[in-house]
Amino acid sequence: MDSDVRIGAGRRHRRRKKKAKSRKILIVVLILAALITAGIGIWSFLKTNVYQNDEEFQTYAEAQLKENQIFKVKGTEKTSYEYDSPISYAVDYQVISNSSIQAYRDEKIKEAKDNFRREKTKEEKVRAKKNKDNKRYKPPEEAIIINTAVYTAENGAVSLAVKCSENSEADKDMHTVSSYINTYLISEKTGNEIIPAQVMEKDYRDKCSEYVTDYFENHYSEDELSDNWKDFVSPDKTNFNKFIIEESDFIFYFDEGTVLKTKGKYAEVRVSRSLLEDSIRSSIIERYIDPNKPMVALTFDDGPGADSETKILNCLEKHGAVATFFYVGNRVSSGEDKICRALEIGCELGNHTWSHPLLTTLKSKKVKKEINDTNEAIKKACGQYPTVMRPSYGDINDKVCKLIDMPAIMWDVDTLDWKTRNAKKIFKSVKSVKHLDGSIILMHSIHDETAEAVEKIIPWLQKKGYQTVTVSELIKYKQGSEAEKGIIYY
Ligand code: ZN
Repeated sequence: MDSDVRIGAGRRHRRRKKKAKSRKILIVVLILAALITAGIGIWSFLKTNVYQNDEEFQTYAEAQLKENQIFKVKGTEKTSYEYDSPISYAVDYQVISNSSIQAYRDEKIKEAKDNFRREKTKEEKVRAKKNKDNKRYKPPEEAIIINTAVYTAENGAVSLAVKCSENSEADKDMHTVSSYINTYLISEKTGNEIIPAQVMEKDYRDKCSEYVTDYFENHYSEDELSDNWKDFVSPDKTNFNKFIIEESDFIFYFDEGTVLKTKGKYAEVRVSRSLLEDSIRSSIIERYIDPNKPMVALTFDDGPGADSETKILNCLEKHGAVATFFYVGNRVSSGEDKICRALEIGCELGNHTWSHPLLTTLKSKKVKKEINDTNEAIKKACGQYPTVMRPSYGDINDKVCKLIDMPAIMWDVDTLDWKTRNAKKIFKSVKSVKHLDGSIILMHSIHDETAEAVEKIIPWLQKKGYQTVTVSELIKYKQGSEAEKGIIYY
């Protein structure tokens, strides 16, 4: 018994010791666990996935560029990374052998970067003001990731796509806030920008509309499609202008806020090349301008609308000539077909105010409205904004010109067609000028006598060796740089 009791007491004693030991271990474990949890908490509180230096930005941007790649293209690629906290840039370039296309592409990339910097700097100003009392405030990182792709179709058209993905820092991570794509068609031969009508036959929009409407109906629910999505897939001239031609497909792009409700992202639809094969022009329609030969710019004001304008367009087309038309905004809706035709035969579109007023007598707001309303009406008519403007009555000054935000085009040869209304006299007013090279000739498309004179003027100019060019082309070749907004050209 005794020994049993002793044994029992010894066991109890050991058990107590054991219990105390395990309690100690438990406490240590608990403390450790608490420390680790707190550590993780603090670590995750401090941890950031946002790049902190050159090297880290490159790693981040590299992955983004890869993810955003538009399509695989042949040729070596080069990539540029500019870590310039808080605004950084990454661009993937393809090495293009054609230097004028390379220059064109680089210009578009620069435009995208400049816009991004301007926009983000503006936003930061507002934020910095709000945070002026916060000593620990640091501007968030912003990055634009630009993917480019170039593809040369067999008919001489070059497709260029510039895809921009805007990323911002939030909650210690980088997020894509917005992505959009711009596409351009360029002539392989001249490096000039061209329009879909120079590359595609008229019926391509009908085919696209049918296919793309089906595509969205079959791939998206009603909730995902915007209320007026069908407006953006109709065969209207304003649609199907954003696309690239790839080896086996056309890729059409639809901006944010058009077809889909998705925020911050555009939609794209691939259309098999075979579907559009018959609508691809075998070679693009283009004019070649020889910068060493004399050139003139014919300009026609006050349209669209009259039959005389149709005669002028017929004459231009017949002789492979071009002109610049300055349209009066309030007449646009009655002559949309004429505007589209002008564009299709390579003419330039101009703005001649909405109601033909004396601009210098108007208040700033009214001047802007005269111009903006006309720009929108023309865009609605044919899918393109006018590129130049001419003040009604030639009434302009530097102050008005700055408000307009477009190059203002005057003239140096006045045919006085509106005054004489005599075809012979109009022809003579051009013929009698000694040196027409570099001239801008003023006419009005609303008079029959002008149309009659044009039928003489164009063949005469061509016989004399003059090339007819648009106003913007004339400025580009004669002044050596593109027409600039806010400048009056005489
Ligand atoms: Zn006028």
